[in-house]
Amino acid sequence: MLNLTGKNALVTGIANNKSIAWGIAQQLHAAGANLGVTYLPDEKGRFEKKVSELVEPLQPSLFLPCDVQNEVQLQETFDTIKDKWGKLDILIHCLAFASKDALSGDFSSVSRQDYAQAIEVSAYSLVSMSRAAKPLMAEGGSIVTLTYLGGVRVIPNYNTMGIAKAALEMNVRYLAFEMGSQNVRVNGISAGPIRTLASSAVGGILDMIHHVEEVAPLRRTVTQAEVGNTAAFLCSDLATGITGQILYVDAGYEIMGM
Ligand code: NAD
Repeated sequence: MLNLTGKNALVTGIANNKSIAWGIAQQLHAAGANLGVTYLPDEKGRFEKKVSELVEPLQPSLFLPCDVQNEVQLQETFDTIKDKWGKLDILIHCLAFASKDALSGDFSSVSRQDYAQAIEVSAYSLVSMSRAAKPLMAEGGSIVTLTYLGGVRVIPNYNTMGIAKAALEMNVRYLAFEMGSQNVRVNGISAGPIRTLASSAVGGILDMIHHVEEVAPLRRTVTQAEVGNTAAFLCSDLATGITGQILYVDAGYEIMGM
């Protein structure tokens, strides 16, 4: 049975009720996990208010600001977990960012700055978060990140984020090898296209979704809840033999050649 009672889970990447991380948080909560939630702080405090109201029904025992580009804030997040919880069982890395310019047009036109920012926020952050989580997972644990097919195939407009996802997927494998000796499993979910704040920045996202609805074996794309269910499974004792994997939750689209 899928039971996460007694597990402490940190969920990153909730921006609103369309976020994939919101779907994951709901499923982890339903399975009995004790939740901690981070949000991306902004000057006007809009994300803080919005996300705190949204997650209130899930009664997270921690609610913390964490911009992954801010090393001090990132370390403070894990220091707080150490103080309040003592241990961490589950880390959900569900965030990414690339500028709009890096997500449309000619791939080669990307600036050095936009390229570096996409990699730093979307891929390096899994490394820095895993490093901070490692000492808190001495009894084992599960780390799950979110990726997309554009990290292994060319998807028009996905451009620089595809490069970031390729790096992220290799991070999963190297981290799985390093952390396996302390029974920490690291996996990625490659989700089909879903309308969210982040995906709306990708040029032609609606066309991508319609294409999947036409040709995927299930003739539809996937929901946040379906991704959330898979994340809960990967974090549970039902998946103790799985690490270093990228699991496709995409209505089967990935198998198609034509
Ligand atoms: P979203 O906009 O709801 O979530 C993206 C999150 O990233 C936001 O909560 C945002 O605050 C956070 N973020 C951005 N920069 C940050 C920073 N510097 N520090 C901390 N957090 C930061 O969109 P989403 O689609 O739910 O994206 C979540 C993950 O799922 C991303 O990794 C995305 O690439 C991946 N994904 C999305 C799709 C899709 O079609 N929506 C498909 C496959 C994978």
